[in-house]
Amino acid sequence: MLDKVLIANRGEIALRILRACKELGIKTVAVHSTADRTLKHVLLADESICIGNAAASESYLNIPRIIAAAEVTNSIAIHPGYGFLAENADFADAVERSGFVFIGPKAETINLMGDKVSAINAMKKAGVPCVPGSDGPLTDDAERNKAIAKRIGYPIIVKAAGGGGGRGMRVVRTESELVKAIETTKAEAGAAFGNDMVYMEKFLENPRHVEIQILADGQGSAIHLGERDCSMQRRHQKVVEEAPAPGITEEMRNKIGERCCRACVEIGYRGAGTFEFLYEKGEFYFIEMNTRIQVEHPVSEMITGVDLIKEQLRIAAGQPLSIDQSQIQIRGHAIECRINAEDPDTFIPSPGQISMFHSPGGLGVRWESHVYAGYTVPPNYDSMIGKLITYGESRDVAIARMRHALDELVVEGIKTNIPLQRRIMADENFFAGGTNIHYLEKKLGLA
Ligand code: ADP
Repeated sequence: MLDKVLIANRGEIALRILRACKELGIKTVAVHSTADRTLKHVLLADESICIGNAAASESYLNIPRIIAAAEVTNSIAIHPGYGFLAENADFADAVERSGFVFIGPKAETINLMGDKVSAINAMKKAGVPCVPGSDGPLTDDAERNKAIAKRIGYPIIVKAAGGGGGRGMRVVRTESELVKAIETTKAEAGAAFGNDMVYMEKFLENPRHVEIQILADGQGSAIHLGERDCSMQRRHQKVVEEAPAPGITEEMRNKIGERCCRACVEIGYRGAGTFEFLYEKGEFYFIEMNTRIQVEHPVSEMITGVDLIKEQLRIAAGQPLSIDQSQIQIRGHAIECRINAEDPDTFIPSPGQISMFHSPGGLGVRWESHVYAGYTVPPNYDSMIGKLITYGESRDVAIARMRHALDELVVEGIKTNIPLQRRIMADENFFAGGTNIHYLEKKLGLA
């Protein structure tokens, strides 16, 4: 096993990684900014090092400082968590070139999947269903672009190959808007992502977001852990996630899951990863792959009993997967509510000191969070302060548990989105299951 792991992240995911390391007897190193000296995992790690100022560019995004911290602590491997440098191929490359193990795929795989045009082409080749599209970048040839859009059929969406975070895309409903939309998206993408390559896809009107969790050892074996439904979104940001996805049969799950596994083997994928799909009228359409652990990974853990972070650590140590596909059994239902420090109506972040705190508990209730009474949420980072996950033998039981767990959770001194999560859990359409990606914004009167 890896002797010592440096955790290049903060917040709840850093604590989650620390817990998995402890269970495997791995020593831990926490790196943190000046704003994060009192983070829970920093206090619990075997060693901790302050790597810079609060601004992420001076700490959690600063590659040389993180590598230097790994050097002075004699770390063996670096876990990037999610966000920050987790999908930065230059970071993965720098880690490996400095003689450390990057807990994730190879830099070239991150590059391949980070460019959406090359990712879609690789997935098509591997037999993963994709959204009908331009099959490559658009050129400046307006007539060619019009012909492509006509072939796909309006409405279409113009997307940046290097886009992320729900930015860099534009829906086009008629041919008269096409040329201008391509120009604008190109200009925006160049400014925002340093890459003005754009491509075109069919715009699906009312899809759900359904994604497949995979694990691959990089040595020819890959398994899937079923799907998650993350359709409850605001501004393309997930708010509630669940597993399994309502209405997906075992047959559908195995069919799409096997395709994803085959694609992993074909591209030499190593580690945990997620294939994101739009799902409409019984069909899956690949949109992108995330080459890292995801925020919503616990719901898959709850229904399969597999510890995804421990598997990541085992794979990074060069060990084979501890389970094979026949041992993966989907049992029960899990729901995750993201708890954010923000105004529940305006969504404006609400950093500050937590004056009083009580965590929920009971059978089937899991609370993943770094916060405690007296902890101050800094204004510098993402506003998520925890994830509340409930499990039950059925979806109804998981929802009932989530309702009472949200009532038990007390966070005072700052504003949180707990009232919003309560509204969602009381919503009759959510209760029925299978709402699409526009549902939450419509319910909130935002769309
Ligand atoms: P990002 O990397 O920025 O998250 P994605 O390609 O994953 O970009 O798309 C983000 C979101 O944009 C999707 O979850 C969906 O809501 C919307 N979207 C993207 N492509 C399409 C499409 N072809 N049709 C309809 N909606 C889309």
